[in-house]
This record gives sequence, C-alpha cells and structure tokens, in this order.
Amino acid sequence: MKKIMQTAPCRFCGQMVQFEGEVDLTDPQKEELATMTCTCDRAVEYQKEKQRKEKALKNVSVLFGEDAAPEKRIGEGIVNILRAAVEEIYSGGLAKVTLNLRGGVKASISQNSKGEINVERTETKKQKLTE
Ligand SMILES: [Zn+2]
Repeated sequence: MKKIMQTAPCRFCGQMVQFEGEVDLTDPQKEELATMTCTCDRAVEYQKEKQRKEKALKNVSVLFGEDAAPEKRIGEGIVNILRAAVEEIYSGGLAKVTLNLRGGVKASISQNSKGEINVERTETKKQKLTE
C-alpha cells in the first residue's frame, strides 16, 4: 500500500499533526495515527499505555501462543481469553486474571503499581504415585 504524508488532529490537544500513512485511511485511523505522533503530554501517555498493551499481547504469544515452542502452545480459544484479559486490564476493567489450565499450567495476567502489564506462566509438576 502506498504511503503519503497527511494531517489529522490529535485526539487530546486537537493540534493538526503530520504523519505518514496509507492513502485509504478512515478518519478514526487518521486520528489514531496523529495521536500516536503528537508530542503533547496526554498523547505521549497514551502512546506509552498502548505500547504496554502491545508488549503484553506479544508476551502472551511468546509464552502461550504462536511464538511459543510447540510443546508450550495452548489452545487458540484460551489464548484468545488471555488476549481479551490484556484488553480488559489495559482499559481498567480488570486487575488480574489467572487461568488454571489442564496439566498444571497457570496463566496469569496482572498490572503492577507502575502500570506495567505482567504476563506469567507457571508450571507446577507434581509427581504422585498412588497404589
Ligand atoms: Zn496532542
């Protein structure tokens, strides 16, 4: 897709911002790119938050999804639940989610006091022999 220089207003300060983007962007997409380019305080804060979310989604993929080793991968439906949890934590609706998977694997997503989103994988291998 061809990219051209365009301008749109920042969502927070309303200033017109120039950015490079594909020719057929919709107005909301333009506004998003302008906001991601603007240097006002609230836009910078928004950019940081968004990067955190992107990073958390990437971490879900690395620990459980398509970027994990084949034997570490979990079902797509469960990965989708984890991805949805990241979205909800990002938007402030949830503080922490823990899923207990079959096979002693725990998946947990939470936000720390610095606002960073942690993605954790815990494997508890218990060996028990019953006569
Ligand atoms: Zn701005």
